[in-house]
Amino acid sequence: MKSGFVNIFGKPNAGKSTLLNAIMGEKMAIVSHKVQTTRHRIKAILTEKDYQIIFSDTPGIIEPKYKLHEKMMQAVKSSLEDADVALLITDVRENTAESHEIFSSLKLKVPAIVILNKADTVNKEQLITSSKFFESQAYSKEVVAVSALKKTGIDELLKVILKYLPQGQPFYEGDDLSDMPTKFFVGEIIREKIFLLYGDEIPYHATVLVQAFKEKVTLTKISAEIIVQRETQKGIILGGGGAMIKKIGTDARKDIEAFLGRKVFLELFVKVRPKWRDNELQLKEYGY
Ligand code: GDP
Ligand code: MG
Repeated sequence: MKSGFVNIFGKPNAGKSTLLNAIMGEKMAIVSHKVQTTRHRIKAILTEKDYQIIFSDTPGIIEPKYKLHEKMMQAVKSSLEDADVALLITDVRENTAESHEIFSSLKLKVPAIVILNKADTVNKEQLITSSKFFESQAYSKEVVAVSALKKTGIDELLKVILKYLPQGQPFYEGDDLSDMPTKFFVGEIIREKIFLLYGDEIPYHATVLVQAFKEKVTLTKISAEIIVQRETQKGIILGGGGAMIKKIGTDARKDIEAFLGRKVFLELFVKVRPKWRDNELQLKEYGY
């Protein structure tokens, strides 16, 4: 029996969430074309007859511009320290030297597998060139090319991970896909809708707090707060006559119903809390 912790690292948009989804075969982490949707560590647990792999999808590696970003960097570092295997994922079309700079700056003590993702977007020669480049780096034990989107190379990747996974008994019982509470995923689904409906600015100033989650006989009743920093942002989230918040609510409810497999009544409120991003206490309160 093998059992251990595997952490996925890579720049925003490298395809970490898509890869986790491909491995797990279910929608675990929210995938968006906008950066930084994944602000928490999300653990997914893959339990098979002879192994258990506990995955985490860390926030993207970025400059610590705000306190929130520092929190993200801390999450990345603490993930590094408690992993058995690190997956260093890069978009194969990206500048290899740039990815290399980030990967080597992590100063990894655990075995690392470099994943060349989006293999579907380049030709064989480009893949070979990138593979050779990363194979020659000190931190890289193996290089695996995959397409997280088209789900190719996933079995090969699992084989390589198992090679470096320690012997041991499972850490988690049962077939829990994730040890993150359902409430968290509901919050992430609402956040994803905000990302999809607005431009670049608003989502970075908004967070979602799921306040109530009640299982009724015929449906699940959920109420959530969308927290913004300024009245003007509240106005944008609400939209003229409340049209935008209604759209967020409808889109999110459909996804939450699919996720929970039952009918949902979703209530959304918008609250203004100035400077929440820079306030340590509030960050803690919101679980960052
Ligand atoms: P993350 O920020 O690292 O979690 O990246 P995501 O998983 O959210 O993916 C970012 C974008 O890249 C999304 O639009 C994905 O659909 C896309 N993407 C991810 N993997 C692949 C892949 O293997 N091939 C292609 N063509 N696109 C991909
Ligand atoms: Mg992600």
